[in-house]
Amino acid sequence: MATEEDPLSVTLDRLTQAVTQPVENMDTIKTLISRLHSKLKVQESSCISVCGTFFPWSDYTEYFAVVVPDAEVRLSTLAKIIPPERQTLEQLVHLIEVCREPSMVTAVCSLLHDALSPSNKGDIRDIVIQTCLALNTAEVILRTLKSLSTEGLTVIEPCVHPAYQVLAKLASKDPKLAVKARLVGGVKLTHQLLQAHMKNNVPLLPLLMVTKYLAKNSTNQVMLGKDGCVATLAAILTSVPKTHWAKIKFIMEILALLTKAKSNVIRLVRETGLQRVLSIFDGWEKIERRHQIKILKSILGTLSHMCDSKHGRKAVMALNGVEITQRFIQSCPADKKFDSALASATNVFLKCISKGELPVSSTRGAFKFQVANREESDSTAALSREATPGLDADSSDDELEDEMEEEEEDFDLSREMKGVDLSSEYSVERPRTEELVRLAPLFPELSNYKVQSGTRFKDVTLEARRGNVNDSSPDAGTDYYLRASDSTKSIISFVKVAYPDMIGARGPMYLEELYDKDRKVCRSKAIATVERVLHPEIYMERVVYDLDYLLESEHSRQLITPASSSSRSLSNWDEKRVGKKDVTVNHLNFESRFESGNLRRVIQASNTEYDLILNADVNSSHHHQWFYFEVSNMEPNTQYTFNIINNEKPNSEFNFGMKPVMFSVREALLGRPAWVRTGSNICYHKNHYSRIPKCHDNVRFKKSANKSYYTATFTVTFPHAYDVCYLAYHYPYTYTQLQAYLSKLDNRNLPSDIFYCSQLLCHTLNGNPVPLLTITSKDTNKTKEVVFLTARVHPGESNSSWVMEGVVDFILGGSVAARLLLDKFVFKIVPMLNPEGVIHGNQRCGLTDEDLNRRWRSPNPQLHPTICHSKSLLEYLVHVAKQKVRVFCDFHGHSRQKNVFMYGCSRLQSWWPGDKDTPDSPDFMLLPRLAQNCMGTFSLRDCHFQIERAREATARVAVWRQFDIPMSYTMEASTCGCDQGPYKNYHLSPKELIESGEGFCLALSYLVSTPEVLNSRLLQDSERVDHKFGMTKERNLGDFTKEVAFWSGELDDDLDSDDDLDLDLYGPM
Ligand SMILES: [Zn+2]
Repeated sequence: MATEEDPLSVTLDRLTQAVTQPVENMDTIKTLISRLHSKLKVQESSCISVCGTFFPWSDYTEYFAVVVPDAEVRLSTLAKIIPPERQTLEQLVHLIEVCREPSMVTAVCSLLHDALSPSNKGDIRDIVIQTCLALNTAEVILRTLKSLSTEGLTVIEPCVHPAYQVLAKLASKDPKLAVKARLVGGVKLTHQLLQAHMKNNVPLLPLLMVTKYLAKNSTNQVMLGKDGCVATLAAILTSVPKTHWAKIKFIMEILALLTKAKSNVIRLVRETGLQRVLSIFDGWEKIERRHQIKILKSILGTLSHMCDSKHGRKAVMALNGVEITQRFIQSCPADKKFDSALASATNVFLKCISKGELPVSSTRGAFKFQVANREESDSTAALSREATPGLDADSSDDELEDEMEEEEEDFDLSREMKGVDLSSEYSVERPRTEELVRLAPLFPELSNYKVQSGTRFKDVTLEARRGNVNDSSPDAGTDYYLRASDSTKSIISFVKVAYPDMIGARGPMYLEELYDKDRKVCRSKAIATVERVLHPEIYMERVVYDLDYLLESEHSRQLITPASSSSRSLSNWDEKRVGKKDVTVNHLNFESRFESGNLRRVIQASNTEYDLILNADVNSSHHHQWFYFEVSNMEPNTQYTFNIINNEKPNSEFNFGMKPVMFSVREALLGRPAWVRTGSNICYHKNHYSRIPKCHDNVRFKKSANKSYYTATFTVTFPHAYDVCYLAYHYPYTYTQLQAYLSKLDNRNLPSDIFYCSQLLCHTLNGNPVPLLTITSKDTNKTKEVVFLTARVHPGESNSSWVMEGVVDFILGGSVAARLLLDKFVFKIVPMLNPEGVIHGNQRCGLTDEDLNRRWRSPNPQLHPTICHSKSLLEYLVHVAKQKVRVFCDFHGHSRQKNVFMYGCSRLQSWWPGDKDTPDSPDFMLLPRLAQNCMGTFSLRDCHFQIERAREATARVAVWRQFDIPMSYTMEASTCGCDQGPYKNYHLSPKELIESGEGFCLALSYLVSTPEVLNSRLLQDSERVDHKFGMTKERNLGDFTKEVAFWSGELDDDLDSDDDLDLDLYGPM
């Protein structure tokens, strides 16, 4: 035992002893605490002098005599306090609650405040913070204050300041505080204190800080609003000295949060708070530097919320908000830290101005498809089950229109749905054996590999150009394509086949880097967008391509000479056009009347700038994203800017490194026939065109009220003058290309023990045949499992077709892995679920303005034949042939995430509570884990296994639920590129997409392995990936989950962090 005991240890021991009977030993305890505190005291410029006046008990005066200890003393004191076995912090927090005495709260909080001071640098402070959080300190303080305050606020007055200083520090670290505080009455209490201290500088700052964190919760926002918090803030704003920027900052931040609730928007207008907000905005240059950006951000956040409601917008405009915003945009410094403010300001500007309508005659597509007997077929669901009530599939279509819109399978928080009885809807799957037996010819593998005559795909495709293709001729590919194109039916008459499709163009042999975005480009686009609204007269506005006009004149020509054009063979004369200038015009020429093309209108804005409007999906007014068109007549060495002005999605990979693709016919003639990533000055941003359609006949349009379209803009310098070039969103893959590919496969000599067969699955609504492939090895003695694959339900996702081609090539490729696969599995493949969408250049739907991947639950045979038939095949396999479907996978393209990844189904992560009653099959994550090892593009961390309510009608979930296939997946491939793995920072081109298809097959081939081999394979990834990734991780959608301010991407460095919060607490007001 040491003879001379360290006095601090003695103090701590005595404290431990005293707190066993806290109420009796109150005075002793306070003395001990003050002794302890004296060793922790931090130099606080403003606090010392003012704090004293609040301390009623005499011991405190001792403090002032004590010299403030230096950092070393403080740290060594803290080091004594924090060891868990000492339990000092626990005792202190405990005291707050059990003593229920304002002076004790003051004593403890003052000590904690200094213990939490940022001047205690390093790990020790972190431990103090974590311990305080673990002890629920903030909640304890609030609960104690609340109970003490029942006798009046004056009772707690002395401890408000130290208590809120501690609360302010912990609030920023405790994300649940907003809710916890509400439950103990702390939200109302904080507001009452705020009202009481409106003019009291001392506790006002920590009170405002705490209020900010409480206001982050949406329920609290409404509650605070009802309690009059907006009025309180407006009053503080009027009385607070104009130089107290820290306080003004917090007030602005709270207002930006509170105005998320519409009711508070009205309150802010009524309390004349908006006027003050705008006047601070108007004088933004006077704001103290260190608060300037945050204050601007909050003001603009508030204004943006105001402008989301009619009432708020009117008020902003009446108070000259638009002019102030415009002035800010025009004078905004070029410094990067102002980018976010500029983007938000442009956003506010666009929300306020009366927007122009898109310069087209109607937002509905330029041509229509007459759906035969739509009503009749709706009611006669012959092959499909009756529509199931309750979870109507239509609701998910509406979700599709949400601004938060979605990729086919995007993460989406399922709404709370307790009490929905799914079991009654799904449990009894009526086997419709009688109806299904007529599908038997589509399963030749079950009848000794005999293919019934007349069911082969090539028998049903019209082949206008007779004669065989000579596979050895150099133009064989072109011949296959042209021949196949003759049997492709379209609603409008195409004028050509596109050159790159005809020759089977792919990407280059080298990898292409992602675009390194230039923030200055986005700034200039923001300013230009505002300028364009203010000075429309300087733009040319000359229509240079007009599909409506072309179709109209085509129509009238047909009226004069009927029955001629429809059956003509299409061809391509681009090679002859190259190098020739069109002297009749002085602008670029455009064309897109070819398969997958979708240009509606082009308006020349200046000599080198063109606004492009995309055609909507057939029979729809929406879904603009995919584009594919031809450009010609370009001048040498000229930079042309293309603005695609009617995009709907709130953000795009164009803001995150993606470039569009370009094909040059001239380059092809020079021996470089490839699609290449192209463009500079790429940016995706909001524009001034209104999304309010001309006829308001559909309720769902209401959601788009006051919404803007988005512009995808890029600048291209074409490689040659007077060339014929093609620009597209992604590497095209047409229906004709699939047909040509299949007829090539038909002509291929495969080993005699491999069974390959392409058959007619069904016809589309416009009469195009849909192929079904069956591939396996001929071995009648084995019972095989089935791998069922589908792709291209969404026509704008051409990458999924490239992946599918990789899959088919691989399994027919003769490798060891391929043989293994064919011996174990029968592959049933529907390579294109939506040929009509592909042919007509749609983004998402078929011919009926419906997302076919929302029709798997109960497809209608008349309206959704491809889905209906594909699903019937599965039904046949499961219920008639009694075969095991080991894997189902639907291939997609993802336009807002990088890499290749999968979605699967985990019962534990289902929206429907009933799913959780049964444990997950051990297999459900198997394929993605294997894929991680087999595919350079694959990213396991991007996978998720949630079953969302809104996804019940997608292929993945419907197949999983209705046929009980645990390994049911969606595989998504980015339209952009990768942000991890060997392809990090590179685009994906057909080569990597095909490789991904091969990798998918390799992953499948491990399913053949014994469990031991499988396990050793999987062990390899366990080091790389936390095995719980799918269970715990929330997908990080980054900026995509929120509407882009004006443009986005690396824009928002975390402005919300309160790193300077601590400084504010100590620093000048
Ligand atoms: Zn999709």
